[in-house]
Amino acid sequence: MPPPRAPSAAAALAARALARITAAAPLVHDRLVGAATVMTHTQHVLSTIANEAEMRRVISLVSGLDNPDLPRHMELYHSNCGDAVTLAIVPSDPATTISNRSFAMGIIRRLLLSISHVTRGERRRCPGCHKESTRESSRDDSLRSVDEFGDHMLGCKSSLPTRTRLWHDPLVEVWFMLARVAGLSCG
Ligand SMILES: [Zn+2]
Repeated sequence: MPPPRAPSAAAALAARALARITAAAPLVHDRLVGAATVMTHTQHVLSTIANEAEMRRVISLVSGLDNPDLPRHMELYHSNCGDAVTLAIVPSDPATTISNRSFAMGIIRRLLLSISHVTRGERRRCPGCHKESTRESSRDDSLRSVDEFGDHMLGCKSSLPTRTRLWHDPLVEVWFMLARVAGLSCG
């Protein structure tokens, strides 16, 4: 027997969307079936349920990628979850403008992808402190040495002056600027 025809094209699309959402977030169905006659904030409630289901799915995937003893992917994932600003900034001056190279590198790190590829037998070597990786993949490196994700490069002591110049000092300038805008005397 052919499936019943939807009363309208919009209803058919809505049914497909509901099937897609409830497959990912079954609680959406429970909420709709068990809802009162008059529902308030329905869109917000359903979005929250779907977002939480998606978050659980992502956390499960990230967890599967990590070394349980060194969950750097999970650490970075949670760290990035706290940043709702970077991708929303409208670049309007030097302080809010990111170079294409830095932007690409930031996105690569957010996606938990490798930025340093080596072939089997090769090792990564930090140009600053000359430390070498001990494994092809840092997932197998209990020493967390020179990794393929750039963590060592970001934290290496040899790059401290560069970090101070490029990160610390500009941040201090922004905080001073915000304090002055708020009417405080500083600087
Ligand atoms: Zn180093």
